Amino acid sequence: MNAPAIRSVVIVGGGTAGWMTAAALARMVRAGVRVTVVESDAIGIVGVGEATIPPIRAFNAMLDIDESHFLAHTRGSMKLGIEFVDWNASGHRYLHPFGEFGFSIEGVRFHQIWHKLRAAGRAGAIEEYSMCAAAARLNRYAAPAAEQSSPLSQLVQAYHFDASLYARYLRGYAEARGVTRREGKIDRVTLRGEDGFIEAVTLEDGSRVEGELFVDCSGFRGLLIEEALHTGYEDWTHWLPCDRALAVPTVSTGPLTPYTRATARAAGWQWRIPLQHRTGNGYVYSSAHLSDDAAAAALLANLDGEPLGDPRPLRFTAGRRKLAWNRNCVAIGLSSGFLEPLESTSIHLIQAGISRLLGLFPDAGWGDAERDTYNDLTRTQYEQVRDFVILHYKANGRDEPLWRQVRAMAVPQSVSRRIDLFRNRGRIFRREDELFAETSWIAVMLGQGITPAGWDPLADALDSDQLAAMLERVRSTFRNAAEVMPDHAAYLARHCAAQ
Ligand code: FAD
Repeated sequence: MNAPAIRSVVIVGGGTAGWMTAAALARMVRAGVRVTVVESDAIGIVGVGEATIPPIRAFNAMLDIDESHFLAHTRGSMKLGIEFVDWNASGHRYLHPFGEFGFSIEGVRFHQIWHKLRAAGRAGAIEEYSMCAAAARLNRYAAPAAEQSSPLSQLVQAYHFDASLYARYLRGYAEARGVTRREGKIDRVTLRGEDGFIEAVTLEDGSRVEGELFVDCSGFRGLLIEEALHTGYEDWTHWLPCDRALAVPTVSTGPLTPYTRATARAAGWQWRIPLQHRTGNGYVYSSAHLSDDAAAAALLANLDGEPLGDPRPLRFTAGRRKLAWNRNCVAIGLSSGFLEPLESTSIHLIQAGISRLLGLFPDAGWGDAERDTYNDLTRTQYEQVRDFVILHYKANGRDEPLWRQVRAMAVPQSVSRRIDLFRNRGRIFRREDELFAETSWIAVMLGQGITPAGWDPLADALDSDQLAAMLERVRSTFRNAAEVMPDHAAYLARHCAAQ
C-alpha cells in the first residue's frame, strides 16, 4: 500500500459544493485520510441551484444513492430538458431535450436527413423526433429501459431538486462515513512562509484547523483561492452581461412539468423549476439594463403561483478563477467560477471538479503535472460551457437594448465558427469529450432561428420517400410510447411514497 502524502483534507464551505466534495472523498477516510468540513451557519449557502443535467446520475451512482430515496429526501422531480420561451420571437418556444434526435441511417446523421426533408416540407419540428421531448410535452415520465429495441432506451433524465436539502442529504451521507464537520466562521487563513501553501484556517473562537490539502468551497468570495492566495479571475461579462438574479419560490400550480422553463425577458431571462413541494423561480438580469426594483416587479408580475417570500437578491460575475488549483488549494463550486444557470451547469461543474480531483489526487506529493493537468482540463471545460451559453445570447431574435447588444457582440471564434458551420450545411462537431453533444447544439441553433442553407450531400444519396416514412415511424413510435407513460406527478408519488 502507498504511504499517502495527504493525511488530512480540509473542505472550507458546506454548500452544495462542500458536501458533494465531502461525500465523494468520504471513502478516503477508510484509507486513513482525515476529511473535515468547516462551515458557518451564520453565513449560510446560496442554495438556489435546483436544476441539473444527466451526468448527476453518475455522481449519485458513484455514491450508491438510490434514485427514489434521493428524490423523496430532496423533494425532487424529473427533468427531460429545458423549454426556451420568447428567445427568438414573442410567443416562440422550443425544447432543448436530453438524449438524441432520431437515429442515424446508413452512416448519415439524423439531423442531416431532417434538414433535407424539412426543406421539402416533409418533416415536423425537430423536437417531434426526440423521446425526451415527446414525454416532456405530455408531462409524462417512465423509467428508461435498458433494451435498445425499446423507445424508452432513448429516455435520459436529470433532476430538479431542493439544493439545500441535497446538501443536507449529502452531509448525512458523509458524516455517516467518518467525515467531520466543524461549525464556525473562519476569520484567518495562515500561509507557510517557505512556499505560500495554506497551513491552517483559524475560526472566530480561536481554534485552528490544519490540513495538507484544502478544498475551497466557500462560494463566490473564494476565501482561500482568492482572498488568501490572490489567484485572479477571468471576467467574461463582455459576453455574458447578466450579473444579478432574484430568486423566489412559489406554491406549486398546474401540472408538474418534467422540464425547466427559461423565458427571455426584457433584460435577461426567468427560470421556472418545478419541485414536489414548490416551484423555484428567478430572474437573471443585467444591472446595466434594469434596476433591481424593476427586476423584482417584473419577476413578481410573471409568476404562476403565490410567492412564498420576498425575492432574494444574488450578485455574480460571469467568469472563472484563473487557476482552480493553486498551491495546495483546489477551488470547487462558486469559488472556482460562475456561469449563469441557463443550461443548469454549475452543479455539474462541481461534480466534474470532484472527479478530476479524485483522478489527480496528489497522494504522491505536490507535482506540477497533476496541478497543471487539473487546471488545463478545468479551463477547457469552463470555456466549452461558456461557448454554449453564449450561443443563446448571440442568436436571439429580440429587440430590447440588452438583446441588440449581445446579438451584435463579437463572440469567441470557437462560437462563430460553429455558427458558420451550422449555417452552411447544418454540421455540428463535438469537440473531444465536451459536455454538450450534437443534440444540444442542434436544438439551440434551430430553436434560436439559425437555419442551415443546405444539408450534407450524403443525405441526397438516400431515397426521400423512404426517409419520410422512416421519420414518420420515429415520430409515431416516440409519441405512442409517451402516451402510455405514467403522469410525471403520479410516477413521483408512487416512487417516493415508500421512502
Ligand atoms: P455556497 O452555497 O455559497 O456555500 C458556501 C459555503 O461556504 C457555506 O457553507 C458557507 O457557510 C461557507 N463559508 C463561506 N465563508 C465562510 C467562512 N468565513 N467561514 C466558514 N464558512 C464559510 N446550479 C445548478 O446546477 N443549477 C441551477 O439551476 C442553478 N441555479 C442557480 C441560480 C443562481 C441565481 C445562482 C447564483 C446559482 C445557481 N446555481 C445553479 C449554482 C449553484 O447554486 C451553486 O453552484 C451551488 O449552490 C454551489 O454553491 P457553493 O457550495 O459553491 O457555495
